[in-house]
Amino acid sequence: MSLKTGQEYLDSVKSLDLNAHILGKKTGELSGHRLVEPSRRAVAFTYDCAHHPGTRELFCVESSLSHDVANRFTHIHQSTEDLVNKVKMQRYCGIHTACCFQRCVGLDAANAIFSTTFECDRKHGTAYHQRFRDYWRWIQQEDLVVDGAMTDPKGDREKRPKDQADPDLYLRIKERRSGGVVIRGAKLHQTGMLNSHEILIMPTLTLRTGEEDWAICCAVPTHEKGVHHIYGRQASDTRKLEKSPGDVGNPAFGGQEVMTVFEDVFVPNERIFMIGETDFSGILVERFASYHRQSYGGCKVGVGDVLIGATALIARMNGVSKASHVQDKIVEMIHLNETIYACGIACSATGEKSPAGNFQVNLLLANVCKLNVTRFPYELARLATDISGGLLGTLPSSAEMEDPVAGPYIRKYLAASPDSQTVDRIKVLRLIENLVAGAGSVGYLIESMHGAGAPMAQRIMIGRQADLEGKMARVRSLLEIG
Ligand code: SF4
Repeated sequence: MSLKTGQEYLDSVKSLDLNAHILGKKTGELSGHRLVEPSRRAVAFTYDCAHHPGTRELFCVESSLSHDVANRFTHIHQSTEDLVNKVKMQRYCGIHTACCFQRCVGLDAANAIFSTTFECDRKHGTAYHQRFRDYWRWIQQEDLVVDGAMTDPKGDREKRPKDQADPDLYLRIKERRSGGVVIRGAKLHQTGMLNSHEILIMPTLTLRTGEEDWAICCAVPTHEKGVHHIYGRQASDTRKLEKSPGDVGNPAFGGQEVMTVFEDVFVPNERIFMIGETDFSGILVERFASYHRQSYGGCKVGVGDVLIGATALIARMNGVSKASHVQDKIVEMIHLNETIYACGIACSATGEKSPAGNFQVNLLLANVCKLNVTRFPYELARLATDISGGLLGTLPSSAEMEDPVAGPYIRKYLAASPDSQTVDRIKVLRLIENLVAGAGSVGYLIESMHGAGAPMAQRIMIGRQADLEGKMARVRSLLEIG
């Protein structure tokens, strides 16, 4: 098996011919599309890292399924060291791309499905686990990108799936045939969808008896008949389409979001990994969410590194880097960012082997990690905004720099420390703007709040995992009370 290079990956998605709708136009050819290309480059980065001498060791693993080399982004974790290395790899990608590089969601789905199918087979006598192993070996061998799709639209939140006015608001089995099923529904917030070869569909919540038609876990190619991808807007996204792209902030990479609709899509039996086992839906949801909450302990920290670096740089360019309050604020940013990382590493290092043989994260610490992620990036963004100054929100466009009248004025009046060029100062401010208020803030802030579940979901898990009864019992014992 040979691992793809970034260019080979880009070539492979070029031929997918996805059914995509972008800004009101049906767009078949996505390669070279200026809205899509930056996020594809971020995925390509994960491929190139498996080839570079400095990163190869971190990004390449021995597959437990084929014993051949695989990219860690498709690995079934074999140890706590694998879990720790996953977080290190994600931080590395975050600091080099300053955006979502998308591949972790399929990795997290795969590890959750791997252990869940094993336990489901043991209880129900189903044959999902071997089927999934075969499917995932193929993913590793082909070195593909898989989008893990969990979030349903959910409609009226007070109502169960079967009580919704429209049953499709939770993705469901519409028809059962001898060779497979027909599914209908939608998945929201799919960051990597347009850059993926495959989709792993999972249920979005714990299902109950009577809700079997919503208990479906299966794989669908992104270009399958009946699959529609609808592009989601991000703040300032059309700056990527401007003639002079200097105002984008992140010149090389970027994110995007997609709503994907499954309109009567046929899924053959060999691609189904759960159908109707409602008692395993919650387990699958919980495991996937916990793996992805661990993931944020790496990727968001890497993006935080970029924000801290840019903030320190703009402080120096503004001539305020020696002010003690500025230094203290930057230390605070570092402290918050490293606290997230500490949780990402801790939930990995204290992970445990599942009955299926792969390793799961420590559920309590993974949820603590993600709960911090719902808060700390916002505080980092606040401190970065404070240190950067008001120019962050009032900069003239980069096109003005070329204007014979406006350009010289901008260079003259936006000059700061004589050690740096005005044009470089503007570039740094644009990067900070991208992360705290522009297209990059979707990944760094909104996604930090809601991705892998909103804060209340983590609080519920923390409450469940914390063994409060045990703590009270130990206090009783300490005080010798009944
Ligand atoms: Fe990976 Fe982070 Fe993007 Fe999730 S949000 S896919 S963990 S980079």
